[in-house]
Amino acid sequence: MDRSVWLDALGAIKDAPPPVRAMFASDEAVEPLPEPGPHEWLSIHDESGQTFDEFVRTAARPPRSERTMYIQPVDTEGALSDACLATLASFAGAFFQLDVRVRPPLVLEPSSLLMRAAPDAGTPQVYAGDILARLYADKPTDAFCVLGITAHDLFPHPIVSFAFGEASAACRVGVASVARYGPPFCGEVPGSPPGEMRKRCCRVIAHEIGHMAGLAHCIYFRCLMNGSSSLAESDRRPLHLCPIDLRKLQWLLGFDFAERYRRLQQFWREIGEEPEAAWMGERLRAEAAHGPPAPILAGLRRAWV
Ligand SMILES: [Zn+2]
Ligand SMILES: [Zn+2]
Repeated sequence: MDRSVWLDALGAIKDAPPPVRAMFASDEAVEPLPEPGPHEWLSIHDESGQTFDEFVRTAARPPRSERTMYIQPVDTEGALSDACLATLASFAGAFFQLDVRVRPPLVLEPSSLLMRAAPDAGTPQVYAGDILARLYADKPTDAFCVLGITAHDLFPHPIVSFAFGEASAACRVGVASVARYGPPFCGEVPGSPPGEMRKRCCRVIAHEIGHMAGLAHCIYFRCLMNGSSSLAESDRRPLHLCPIDLRKLQWLLGFDFAERYRRLQQFWREIGEEPEAAWMGERLRAEAAHGPPAPILAGLRRAWV
């Protein structure tokens, strides 16, 4: 993929916030997405990407009254502790710069769910649409989005063998599954380092919330919004957005870049993930070196016209 495709996807670079421009210009901060292997997402799915301009044409900024994110545990008994859910809520709050509330656990009647045996493993699997419908029916009026987290393995469609999650941008409800982050599915990455499960959970919830925010799969760089058809491919996704998707998210939610980097740096540091904390620290330093923050530039532009 040549640079003109990235530039087109980024949108007018002169209007991009300085932290986005700084990231786009940094060989350390962005990594091109390599050609997909035979079983990887982009070999199986024909996706054309979503430019910043396309996103702006279709995305709806949430009103002030709808800026709370809800995390809804769904049949997570024995799979996710309250402490783990609190950690995930803390990460989501820092990543999206929205208030987060964890709702009381929801236990669904098995008879209310369409179930089958997973084609690849023979283990029980739940139709994700049934969980999405339930979340949408109970969606609070002040919700930016509701994300279900479940221990059920999911399928999104009868012809698809499984999904790590599914989300609706139109309804802003989504569900992420942690079923494949433990036995028998995680045999693909023997010897996973400690904390890998926690990072996988962070990765999948931010990816699904990203979909609810209107982000499509990213085909431009290694990015949290890359599609993934296996646990190994999921694990290769970074825990941050590429500059194109970062620009989209900031346009939608209007957060302060430095504040967001600081909170993410603090989050990763508190749970002992120093490489992730260091990456956020690098972005903070790069931003400081690239001039005034976006709101000041925007104000200047208004003064000029
Ligand atoms: Zn996805
Ligand atoms: Zn991206």
